[in-house]
Parts: sequence; structure tokens; C-alpha cells
Amino acid sequence: MALYGSISSPNLNWQIGPKTISKSTSSSMNSYTTISLSFSSSVSMGLNLRFNLASPSTRAAKINRLRNHGSPLKVVCIDYPRPELDDTVNFIEASYLSSTFRASPRPTKPLKVVIAGAGLAGLSTAKYLADAGHKPILLEARDVLGGKVAAWKDEDGDWYETGLHIFFGAYPNVQNLFGELGINDRLQWKEHSMIFAMPSKPGEFSRFDFPEVLPSPLNGIWAILRNNEMLTWPEKIKFAIGLLPAMLGGQAYVEAQDGVSVKEWMRKQGIPERVTDEVFIAMSKALNFINPDELSMQCILIALNRFLQEKHGSKMAFLDGNPPERLCMPIVDHIQSLGGEVHLNSRIKNIELNDDNTVKSFLLTNGKVIEGDAYVSAAPVDILKLLLPENWKGVPYFQRLDKLVGVPVINVHICCGICLQFY
Ligand SMILES: Cc1cc2nc3c(=O)[nH]c(=O)nc-3n(C[C@H](O)[C@H](O)[C@H](O)COP(=O)(O)OP(=O)(O)OC[C@H]3O[C@@H](n4cnc5c(N)ncnc54)[C@H](O)[C@@H]3O)c2cc1C
Repeated sequence: MALYGSISSPNLNWQIGPKTISKSTSSSMNSYTTISLSFSSSVSMGLNLRFNLASPSTRAAKINRLRNHGSPLKVVCIDYPRPELDDTVNFIEASYLSSTFRASPRPTKPLKVVIAGAGLAGLSTAKYLADAGHKPILLEARDVLGGKVAAWKDEDGDWYETGLHIFFGAYPNVQNLFGELGINDRLQWKEHSMIFAMPSKPGEFSRFDFPEVLPSPLNGIWAILRNNEMLTWPEKIKFAIGLLPAMLGGQAYVEAQDGVSVKEWMRKQGIPERVTDEVFIAMSKALNFINPDELSMQCILIALNRFLQEKHGSKMAFLDGNPPERLCMPIVDHIQSLGGEVHLNSRIKNIELNDDNTVKSFLLTNGKVIEGDAYVSAAPVDILKLLLPENWKGVPYFQRLDKLVGVPVINVHICCGICLQFY
């Protein structure tokens, strides 16, 4: 089952010619090639059509046929304006906190902070350290920025991305980061809908449409109540009653569900198995790449609560191009403009320790030794576990890592050395 958010709404206008045609593949699609048609930004934003085609000549023939004779798919590409996010409590908090980095007194002795991993976590750590007047040295193992949002250009100049990335309205820190970098216009906002493929009806999709006129949580409740393909009325009522404790209990209730899996929680609330299968397998996989019997209900409730609390929280945006150039490079430019450094092809091989077990340096696979005043790991938890020095393995703090296994969306980032305090 898959969660789709890229096709905007019915009624494709094939008179609009494709401006660029790019192809992409991903590991989950290695048995076939995906063709993406993207249109000029004045007429459309971020349309992605996928065809399962055998060979380049067949692909070209198929695209010509579609252009000349129209398509059974009817899709219109509309440029949706950026929603009003800036007045939400979470956005105001995010924006205030990041402004404190810039406003804090300049350190008398700026710290040299060595950061492992130039994914979005490492890049933003470096950005905010630089904002606070420190000197980040960001080390990336690979020859490409972005980690899980990395992308590669093929010999034809087309981009292969790690995967489709959604930037939700409910991401205050990321939305604030886009604003601070002056690149809000690179996010292409979609209509407020969630579209699910239905496992019981292969090839058919079911929509949850959030009406623009209603405030939250009414727009979400309306979207659920209006959906008749996936949920029957008795299921909707049981689902809504099951969600009540989450809505009323607030953050304390959400955190208390950490030890309960999504599947267990659904059973406890009397939510029909069918709802779990139709909606929550997709949601668990989309949010965390794992199944509802493995995922903590806390993760789902955090997302659901945000979606229910904020009118535009579940609205989705896509980046208007490949993430390394369109998102990571502006962060790197910002870091460098403030005296920070970003190094590719700099894989950390060992964390070297002083006699007192604090970090002395990072030893790279190319033999270089990088020293700093403080060190941050922004690498995935599995990598951190491999890098953990022998002397740290008995320390209870680090032993807690043993139970953690990385999935593509959850990482553990640790700052070693000294405590950095900016406000
Ligand atoms: C296919 C896919 C789709 C996704 N879709 C979404 C989405 O729609 N919305 C969303 O919010 N999230 C999505 N995510 C999750 C999101 O991409 C990640 O949560 C986020 O990018 C993780 O960033 P990070 O910096 O924490 O880690 P990473 O991106 O993993 O960065 C870690 C970096 O550390 C580097 N590194 C590793 N070992 C070393 C070493 N020894 N020395 C130096 N560097 C090292 C790696 O090369 C990497 O660049 C998706 C993830 C995937 C894989």
C-alpha cells in the first residue's frame, strides 16, 4: 500500500507541452523505469506521472501517443500558494528559537565544532552553530550532500533521487529554515488531500480531502467523515471514538503510548482491523518505513495530533528540484559565508579518545585527523554504534544505543565533548 500525494486533481491538459523529461529509478522499483514529466513552473508545479514501460523506444512512443491523443489519466497541475503557516504556535516557537542563535552574544572564543554527516541534521546543526558565532567543520563520508535526501545526476543530466520527500506544513523547523535561507519559493504546495491506494481494490485510490474553509480539527474530521471508499460509517465512528483519548489527553497521553505498538493501540481502542490495514499500514510505512506491529503509537499520535491541531499541518509540499542543489547548497553557502567548512569524501573511521575518555579527534579513512573543541554525530544510529570507541561501550548512556536499530526516518544524534548552550 502506498501513500500518494503528487497528482493534483482531475483534468489533464495535454496542450501544455512538457518542458523537461527526466527519468528516475529507485531500489524499490528496480524492475522497471519511472518516467517523470515536469512542466514549466508557470503552468504547473511538481507533476509526477509514472508509467511502467519496457524500453526507451516504447517509452518515447507512449509519451508521443499520450501527447497526441490525450490520456486516460486526467490531471491538472495547479500552483497552490504557500499556506499561512507563520502564525501557528509551533512555527512562532521554531522561529524564535532559531533567532536566539543569531541574537546570542558573540562568543569570546568561538568553538570549533566537528560534525559527522552532512545529511539535513548535520547541515542544519552546522548552520545554527555558525549563526551562533561558532565554527562548524562538517564532514561527509560520501561525495554528495544530503544523506537520505541525496540525489545523483546521470550521464544525460537527469537526476536520480533517494526517494520522494514531502515537506509538511506541520514541520515548523524545516519551514522556518526554508524562510531563513530565502528559498520558500522552492517548495511546491499541493492541494490539501491525502490519497491512498486501496489494497482491497487494486488500481483504485481513496481520497481524504481537507476543505479549505474549515479550521482544524474540523477540516480533518470532515476529511475522514467524507471518505466513503475506505471506511464504513461504523468504522468511522469507532475510529473517532478511539482517537478521542489522544485528542483530549494532549502531549502527556501521547508520550505514555510509547511502549504500545500501533497495532496494539488500535486493538485496545476497539478500532476495526480493517482500518489498521487500510490506513495505518500506509501511515506507519510512510512515517517510519515499518509495519504497525513494530512502530510505537507515539510516533503516529505525534503526527496525527499535529495534523489535527494545525489547519495546514497535513498540507504537503515538494521541492522544485534535486535536494542537494536546491536545499543543501543554500545551507552550505550560508555556513561558508559565516566561516564554517563543509568537506565531502571525509568518512570518519574512528573516534579517538583522550585519557579521560573525552573525544580527542576524528580519524578519517583518508588518514586525516580532525580535532575540535566539541564533536557532534549526525550520522545514522547504526553507524554511530559501529564507531563507538571500546571504552564507551560499558557506559550506561551509550549502552542505551544497543536497543536502537535505524530506520530511514529515525536517527540518533549525539553531541560529545562539552555542552553547548546558547540561550
Ligand atoms: C526514500 C525516503 C523517503 C523519505 N521521505 C520523507 C518525507 O517525505 N518526509 C520526511 O520528512 N522525511 C522523509 N524521509 C526521512 C528523511 O529523509 C530523513 O529523516 C532525514 O533526511 C535524515 O537526515 P539525517 O541528517 O538525520 O540523516 P542522514 O540523511 O542519514 O545523514 C547522515 C549522513 O551521515 C553520513 N555518514 C554516515 N557515516 C559517516 C561517517 N563514518 N563519516 C562521515 N559521514 C558519515 C551519511 O553519508 C549521510 O550523509 C525519507 C527517507 C527516505 C530514505
